[in-house]
Amino acid sequence: MSTSRRSFMTKAALAAGMAPFVGLSKTFGQGLTDAMERTPKSSAPSDLKITDVKCAYSGGGLFVKISTNQDIVGWGEAVDAIGGTYYLVQRLGRGLIGSNPLNLTPNVFFERNRKGNPFSGTQSGMFVAVLSAFDAALWDLCGKALGLPVYQLLGGKFRDKVRVYCDTQLYSVRNPPPEEYAKVAREAVDRGYTAVKFDLDEAGDPNKFDRTNWTASLAEVERMYNSIAAVRKEIGPHIDICCDMHGRYDAPTGRKVAKVMEPLNLMWLEEPVPAENVEIYKTITQETSTPICTGENLYLTYGFARLLADGAVDLIMPDLQKCGGLGEGQRIASLANAYYTPFSPHMVGSFLACMATAHVCAAVPNFHILEWQGPFDVQPRWKEIVKYEGSDKPFIDKGFLTVSNKPGIGVDINEEGLKKYATPNIPFFA
Ligand SMILES: [Mg+2]
Repeated sequence: MSTSRRSFMTKAALAAGMAPFVGLSKTFGQGLTDAMERTPKSSAPSDLKITDVKCAYSGGGLFVKISTNQDIVGWGEAVDAIGGTYYLVQRLGRGLIGSNPLNLTPNVFFERNRKGNPFSGTQSGMFVAVLSAFDAALWDLCGKALGLPVYQLLGGKFRDKVRVYCDTQLYSVRNPPPEEYAKVAREAVDRGYTAVKFDLDEAGDPNKFDRTNWTASLAEVERMYNSIAAVRKEIGPHIDICCDMHGRYDAPTGRKVAKVMEPLNLMWLEEPVPAENVEIYKTITQETSTPICTGENLYLTYGFARLLADGAVDLIMPDLQKCGGLGEGQRIASLANAYYTPFSPHMVGSFLACMATAHVCAAVPNFHILEWQGPFDVQPRWKEIVKYEGSDKPFIDKGFLTVSNKPGIGVDINEEGLKKYATPNIPFFA
């Protein structure tokens, strides 16, 4: 069956004049071929019913588990804006019991809950972050019920692998000298990464004149430039560098740092000022040749609409574990695509969150690069809390993540492993 179907597809491609493209990627389209050979395992998808919704908290993450009357479970994750949301998960979960996720699809669930109540336009922040975890779990569940990877449900993939950049997390070291920046960048490049990220904001910089005011002193700006100049000198002109200011500085500092960094040819300068003021972003973006990026703390497509329409940023970086989930992430990417703007998601969740985001990255044309945390490569915790095929190999290979062809997201939570790191005093999947 599979051989005849593949040869049919190859012949069809040749007949359609696609011969030059047939050899582009041996695995391209493999997910669909594999999926067509599968059948749902327990009973017909039409009989699928949600029986239970539970959650657990670990580190900065919320993990939602949706169980069914068949032997499949959906997993979703949210980050950051999730403190105190246990009872919100319980309430939203009760509304799902008895539903068939193939009828109450992720998109229907999202829109009904986001706008289902009076004043729902005021719902953002934690509410949307929790919806993000439910959305991902429902995509995972639908994919598993139908035997399809999530990217296929999103319309198919443009790429087999997504490029990631390595957030070095050098910020965990207090006031590192430029040589330390260069050393950490070199280590990341030696591990195969083609892009690195460093933080420029430093609350403990001894050259700060004031603890509260975030106008950077001349010495602070010099420290920022020297740190990244050392990186550029070490890794050469062809490795991409991103710099993050975490939206902490004021407008004159943001404008100055963007200008000062121009000779270093950054991939982007992230959040030189807080994300709320579109006019200031537009000013900074128009004044400098340094590409400007924001979005990790914006919610819903509407959070990006004016930034894009006004040309206030060069790139956007929504966090799909926070902004509304995988469906909303695809809608944000589509809006950005209409403005010829690259989609470069922020990602600080687990491997589950990373693979979930990767499905969206695969399914949108304007995907640019995805965030990856350097310590994930070495800290055992991140592998302990998940289960996935190929877990004996590194998750990232030469700076790329291969998108899973398994049904659903392709990464599940290992409850025993997660329990070791669970946030105390909150019920654990109970
Ligand atoms: Mg950031």
